[in-house]
Amino acid sequence: MNAKKTKKVRPRRVCPIHHRRLVKPKEKHEFEHWDCPVDGCKMSCGPGKTSRATDRPTRKMRNLAHRKFDVLWKFPLETKIHFGHAGYGLMREYQRRVLAYRWASRVMMLPFENTHIGMFSADQCLELVSHVENLLDGVEK
Ligand SMILES: [Zn+2]
Repeated sequence: MNAKKTKKVRPRRVCPIHHRRLVKPKEKHEFEHWDCPVDGCKMSCGPGKTSRATDRPTRKMRNLAHRKFDVLWKFPLETKIHFGHAGYGLMREYQRRVLAYRWASRVMMLPFENTHIGMFSADQCLELVSHVENLLDGVEK
Protein backbone atom coordinates (compact mmCIF):
# COMPACT_ATOMS: atom_id res chain seq x y z
CA MET A 1 0.00 0.00 0.00
CA ASN A 2 1.30 3.39 -0.76
CA ALA A 3 0.76 6.20 1.67
CA LYS A 4 -0.34 8.77 -0.86
CA LYS A 5 -1.38 12.00 0.69
CA THR A 6 -5.08 12.54 0.18
CA LYS A 7 -5.27 15.88 1.97
CA LYS A 8 -6.28 18.49 -0.58
CA VAL A 9 -4.20 21.62 -0.71
CA ARG A 10 -6.33 24.66 -1.32
CA PRO A 11 -5.10 26.24 -4.54
CA ARG A 12 -4.00 29.79 -3.93
CA ARG A 13 -4.67 31.05 -7.45
CA VAL A 14 -8.43 31.25 -7.14
CA CYS A 15 -10.74 34.14 -8.01
CA PRO A 16 -12.08 35.60 -4.72
CA ILE A 17 -15.41 36.42 -6.43
CA HIS A 18 -16.08 33.40 -8.64
CA HIS A 19 -14.01 30.83 -6.75
CA ARG A 20 -12.70 29.59 -10.08
CA ARG A 21 -9.14 28.49 -10.56
CA LEU A 22 -7.15 31.18 -12.35
CA VAL A 23 -5.58 30.38 -15.70
CA LYS A 24 -2.43 31.57 -17.41
CA PRO A 25 -3.25 33.75 -20.43
CA LYS A 26 -2.16 32.45 -23.82
CA GLU A 27 -0.75 35.74 -25.06
CA LYS A 28 2.61 36.88 -23.76
CA HIS A 29 2.51 39.69 -21.24
CA GLU A 30 5.22 41.80 -19.72
CA PHE A 31 4.56 40.25 -16.32
CA GLU A 32 3.68 36.68 -15.54
CA HIS A 33 0.17 36.45 -14.13
CA TRP A 34 -2.97 34.31 -13.93
CA ASP A 35 -6.47 35.48 -14.75
CA CYS A 36 -10.02 34.51 -13.75
CA PRO A 37 -11.60 32.44 -16.58
CA VAL A 38 -14.98 34.17 -16.15
CA ASP A 39 -15.66 36.66 -18.96
CA GLY A 40 -15.24 40.26 -17.91
CA CYS A 41 -13.74 39.41 -14.52
CA LYS A 42 -10.67 41.55 -13.86
CA MET A 43 -9.27 39.45 -11.03
CA SER A 44 -5.68 38.45 -11.57
CA CYS A 45 -2.76 37.07 -9.59
CA GLY A 46 0.98 37.74 -9.83
CA PRO A 47 3.75 35.10 -9.77
CA GLY A 48 5.00 35.58 -6.18
CA LYS A 49 4.48 32.84 -3.61
CA THR A 50 2.65 35.29 -1.36
CA SER A 51 0.65 36.90 -4.15
CA ARG A 52 -3.14 36.71 -3.90
CA ALA A 53 -5.63 37.32 -6.68
CA THR A 54 -7.16 40.77 -6.74
CA ASP A 55 -8.58 43.46 -9.02
CA ARG A 56 -6.61 45.86 -11.20
CA PRO A 57 -6.71 48.97 -8.93
CA THR A 58 -5.34 46.94 -6.01
CA ARG A 59 -2.66 45.42 -8.21
CA LYS A 60 -1.60 48.91 -9.26
CA MET A 61 -1.32 49.91 -5.61
CA ARG A 62 0.70 46.78 -4.83
CA ASN A 63 3.10 47.66 -7.64
CA LEU A 64 3.48 51.16 -6.21
CA ALA A 65 4.04 49.78 -2.70
CA HIS A 66 6.72 47.42 -4.05
CA ARG A 67 8.48 50.25 -5.89
CA LYS A 68 8.56 52.37 -2.71
CA PHE A 69 9.29 49.61 -0.20
CA ASP A 70 11.84 47.55 -2.14
CA VAL A 71 14.17 50.56 -2.31
CA LEU A 72 14.59 50.22 1.47
CA TRP A 73 16.26 46.83 1.33
CA LYS A 74 17.76 47.03 -2.17
CA PHE A 75 19.59 50.33 -1.82
CA PRO A 76 20.69 50.73 1.82
CA LEU A 77 23.68 52.89 0.86
CA GLU A 78 21.52 55.37 -1.01
CA THR A 79 18.74 55.52 1.56
CA LYS A 80 21.01 55.21 4.65
CA ILE A 81 18.34 52.92 6.06
CA HIS A 82 19.78 49.92 7.82
CA PHE A 83 17.33 47.85 9.79
CA GLY A 84 18.51 46.23 12.97
CA HIS A 85 21.76 48.23 12.89
CA ALA A 86 23.48 45.29 11.28
CA GLY A 87 25.33 47.55 8.84
CA TYR A 88 24.54 47.69 5.18
CA GLY A 89 27.82 46.66 3.61
CA LEU A 90 28.09 43.16 4.97
CA MET A 91 24.44 42.23 5.09
CA ARG A 92 23.15 40.23 2.25
CA GLU A 93 20.11 41.37 0.37
CA TYR A 94 17.97 38.50 1.63
CA GLN A 95 18.61 39.36 5.27
CA ARG A 96 17.95 43.03 4.64
CA ARG A 97 14.68 42.10 3.00
CA VAL A 98 13.57 40.00 5.98
CA LEU A 99 14.44 42.84 8.35
CA ALA A 100 12.57 45.34 6.17
CA TYR A 101 9.46 43.15 6.30
CA ARG A 102 9.87 42.83 10.08
CA TRP A 103 9.89 46.62 10.28
CA ALA A 104 6.78 46.80 8.06
CA SER A 105 4.99 44.23 10.20
CA ARG A 106 5.80 46.31 13.30
CA VAL A 107 4.73 49.71 11.95
CA MET A 108 1.60 48.26 10.35
CA MET A 109 0.83 46.13 13.40
CA LEU A 110 0.37 42.99 11.32
CA PRO A 111 1.58 39.47 12.04
CA PHE A 112 4.86 38.88 10.20
CA GLU A 113 3.38 36.01 8.17
CA ASN A 114 0.70 38.37 6.81
CA THR A 115 3.12 41.15 5.99
CA HIS A 116 3.43 40.63 2.26
CA ILE A 117 2.58 43.31 -0.27
CA GLY A 118 1.02 40.59 -2.44
CA MET A 119 -1.59 40.09 0.30
CA PHE A 120 -2.28 43.78 0.95
CA SER A 121 -5.44 45.70 0.12
CA ALA A 122 -5.12 49.03 -1.69
CA ASP A 123 -5.49 50.83 1.67
CA GLN A 124 -2.75 48.76 3.26
CA CYS A 125 -0.48 49.55 0.30
CA LEU A 126 -1.06 53.27 0.83
CA GLU A 127 -0.42 52.85 4.54
CA LEU A 128 2.89 51.12 3.83
CA VAL A 129 3.89 53.82 1.32
CA SER A 130 3.28 56.54 3.91
CA HIS A 131 5.35 54.63 6.51
CA VAL A 132 8.16 54.28 3.98
CA GLU A 133 8.03 58.01 3.18
CA ASN A 134 8.07 58.89 6.87
CA LEU A 135 11.03 56.59 7.41
CA LEU A 136 12.96 58.16 4.53
CA ASP A 137 12.11 61.64 5.88
CA GLY A 138 13.46 60.61 9.28
CA VAL A 139 10.03 60.98 10.89
CA GLU A 140 9.72 57.32 11.94
CA LYS A 141 12.07 54.55 12.84
ZN1 LIG B 1 -13.59 36.03 -11.26
